[in-house]
Amino acid sequence: MTKAIYAGSFDPFTLGHLDIVNRASTMFDEVIVALGTNTSKSSLFTADEKYEMIQEVLAEHAKDNVRVIQFTDGLIVDLAKELDANVMLRGLRSVSDMEYEMNIASMNKTQAPEIESVFLMANEKYRFVSSSLIKEIAMFDGDISSMVPDVVAERMKEKYHENK
Ligand code: ADP
Repeated sequence: MTKAIYAGSFDPFTLGHLDIVNRASTMFDEVIVALGTNTSKSSLFTADEKYEMIQEVLAEHAKDNVRVIQFTDGLIVDLAKELDANVMLRGLRSVSDMEYEMNIASMNKTQAPEIESVFLMANEKYRFVSSSLIKEIAMFDGDISSMVPDVVAERMKEKYHENK
């Protein structure tokens, strides 16, 4: 049984993230999207808002072997052990992603040698898509419909509207 954890802050969940999840769902028996808080980034959406959105997106666009969970504190490798997962899944868009991810992967290896980090190259279509860029575009009422699932586009609109 292969079980992969795909951890991230998903603020918001993009079509790039969904693409990684969907490709992974054909490679692993189970894929768990672990919604965490990145301590070095401030968040537009609350954890509950993100959880709800991801649930909706997965229900509509992903296979049954994908689910989302929230984790608040602790090491991601400890969560992986708890869930009996054997793979930490990440996406790579660029060389800078790669450098960042290599450090995390090495750190994770020291904590849990039995867990493998597996990287999927970003789909060419979504290589430039990042949550932070999407927030910037949405803030100024730009069109993000080709970068995020519909439900996310709607919630982004509401979010920036309510903040005005
Ligand atoms: P974090 O804040 O933990 O980096 P993110 O939500 O930004 O979390 O990203 C989670 C994972 O998804 C990371 O491995 C990141 O490289 C990957 N990722 C982000 N955007 C894309 C994309 N457009 N295509 C493929 N992978 C992506």
